[in-house]
Amino acid sequence: MAQNFPIQLARPEGGDMTTLQHIDLHCPICDTQFRSQAVVSTNSFGGKRTDFHERAAGMQPLPFLVHMCSRCGYSGSERDFSDEADVSQLLKEHVWNELAPTLVTSAVSGSEKYEAAAKVAEWQAMEPRHVADLLLRAAWCCVDEGDTEAERYFRRHAARTFEQALGIYDGVGRDEHAVLTYLVGELWRRIGDVKAAKVWFNKVSEEIIDSQSQQWIVDAARQQRDCPREWFG
Ligand SMILES: [Zn+2]
Repeated sequence: MAQNFPIQLARPEGGDMTTLQHIDLHCPICDTQFRSQAVVSTNSFGGKRTDFHERAAGMQPLPFLVHMCSRCGYSGSERDFSDEADVSQLLKEHVWNELAPTLVTSAVSGSEKYEAAAKVAEWQAMEPRHVADLLLRAAWCCVDEGDTEAERYFRRHAARTFEQALGIYDGVGRDEHAVLTYLVGELWRRIGDVKAAKVWFNKVSEEIIDSQSQQWIVDAARQQRDCPREWFG
């Protein structure tokens, strides 16, 4: 059956497979040039989990949307390696003292890259909303890496950071309050803290500002509280 290889049954018609290309990046911390892999095209035909983890059919793009310098451990998106990167002396010290010593020479996993990027974002004094997003992505990567303990660790860290963002005046756009309140509930549910999950799911209806366009969030919160599902749709 060699002629049938590679089997591409999972590829939906008209959809793009996840394809990568090598890119050359310049580290703004240590001045090293290094090679990374970036996503050229991908798809969302793998469905969406109820924590908004969107799946591609075939290879997952997530680990390749973040990059790590192989010399000092500085991590972030492609933009963080461009001239737009916000690099202070303090950030450099943090990277050299806290990321560089723990750098591994073997292949770095997606969750490790996102964890480092979340630290960098914190040192850059980025908003908690942004840091929480990186932590959530680290948790999503752990799902594919099959590391349930690390997944739970990042989910908890993400949930607390989203809570922090929701607690700050203007920490999150008003129109995002309901969906992030739902997400915090869903994160606690996936961690296994049903009680905390319920508290957050029950708060969702108070955060609605447009009952028509946001009804789905109220419905999703009720569903995940009473009869949880793994996937949307
Ligand atoms: Zn570097």
